[in-house]
Amino acid sequence: MFDQPDFSWGVSSSSYQIEGGWDADGKGPSIWDNFTHVPGNVNNNDTGDIACDSYNKVEADIYMLKALGVKNYRFSVSWPRIFPTGRNNSINSYGVAYYNRLIDGLIANNISPIVTLYHWDLPQTLQDIGGWETEEIIDLFDSFADFCFQTFGDRVKFWITFNEPNILAWLGYGEGLFPPNVKEPGDAPYKVAHIFLKAHAKVYHTYDDKYRATQGGIIAPCLFTTWAEPKTPSDPRDIEAADRYLQFLVGWFAHPIYKNGDYPDVMKWKVGNRSELQNLPSSRLPVLTAEEREYIRGTADVFCFNTYSSKIISHSTTRLSPSSYDYDREISITVDSSWPTSALPDHRPVAWGLRRLLNWIKEEYGNPPIYIIENGVGAKSKSDIDDNARIFYVKTYIDEALKAYKVDGVNLKGYNAWSLMDNFEWVDGYEPRFGLHQIDFDNPNRPRTPKRSAVYYAEIIRNNGIPLTQHLGQICPHSLENWQRCNWRCSL
Ligand code: BGC
Repeated sequence: MFDQPDFSWGVSSSSYQIEGGWDADGKGPSIWDNFTHVPGNVNNNDTGDIACDSYNKVEADIYMLKALGVKNYRFSVSWPRIFPTGRNNSINSYGVAYYNRLIDGLIANNISPIVTLYHWDLPQTLQDIGGWETEEIIDLFDSFADFCFQTFGDRVKFWITFNEPNILAWLGYGEGLFPPNVKEPGDAPYKVAHIFLKAHAKVYHTYDDKYRATQGGIIAPCLFTTWAEPKTPSDPRDIEAADRYLQFLVGWFAHPIYKNGDYPDVMKWKVGNRSELQNLPSSRLPVLTAEEREYIRGTADVFCFNTYSSKIISHSTTRLSPSSYDYDREISITVDSSWPTSALPDHRPVAWGLRRLLNWIKEEYGNPPIYIIENGVGAKSKSDIDDNARIFYVKTYIDEALKAYKVDGVNLKGYNAWSLMDNFEWVDGYEPRFGLHQIDFDNPNRPRTPKRSAVYYAEIIRNNGIPLTQHLGQICPHSLENWQRCNWRCSL
């Protein structure tokens, strides 16, 4: 158990993945609306048009959160639902009212909102002017964030600027799998990351300058992470390679924000040297000026991350052409075939990696307060009410988090499970199921049903840690048939 009474247990979601109502009440299209409407882009041609219909189901969502007993709920605001054209001269009052209803419902139930300002659903109108590849977007994002602080900040005390800018830079602009499907792996990820960093810093300063004194909240980005285990731990080259993997993934954003305002040295060296060998006039990694470094350094109050799996890393001599962020790392990535599989090939459960990752963050960034914002596992089955694999995942990952907290002294403040309910899993559509609650996507009412993992997670929350009593791991006998009545509070 945690001896931290205010430890923040929660669950997470994001706007495009759950809301539906893609064009309801004047909402503008996002790049994900348009992308999913093109046949062939998404598994099974699934779209987020209706998703979990959360736009029309505030009460049902809050009911699930209450039943779980969470202290926080992390969701994201859809920029084009609030500003249909992306700009602050087009405020959609229905969109604002939806988030007000949700936030008020959370507060009324003692659940603190954690609000992400950008979880990938960019207004299409802004993509049309260049999206995250143009510096113009920095002010536009800032004015959206400013509006959110002004409108919701009396009740929202925890803001996340970007969800996983590090993975988006690669998937959207390197590999091109996610919209806007730019496939320029050598340059675009670095350029876009540069803009993400500046936009993040600008929004942080806006909060700091205009709202912090009266609203008293906190703000940070949320980075994607994966523990990197050196293939041969006795080989210094593999140890360096594993650290390099983490620097290119996490340090890319965290080094400027949490350390000195600048990219990690190893990135500057690797990308710089390789650019020179490629006969380029300058490094593909843009330079942060002294002024920018000063502006970016220190722009986070806490350290937020998402994590799902681990990788095994060794040093590798990679090809120089074509130029790519992928090759710049000079590593090769494998997994251990004995690790269990899950619905996504990249997401093998490796709980012990979480403890090492937490320790790496603690050492690297000077023991910051840490929030795990997303952690969970996808299953492929449609009717996985008996989701024992997820119970095992949640239990073992939380166990490792507790070891990092209690034994290693990591300053862990919160843990959020991904996800509150089954939802739209990006290009994989509705096949991978990440929810603690099942959604019947064939039913227009999108009924929500708790899985056994929801029952188990509620027990963990109630015990403020893994239950130590004799009913450890048991399931409330009423939970499935009669869960509304007993509300998972019956004593086993
Ligand atoms: C994203 C979520 C996604 C989850 C599972 C995270 O990278 O933030 O939106 O659903 O991983 O793949």
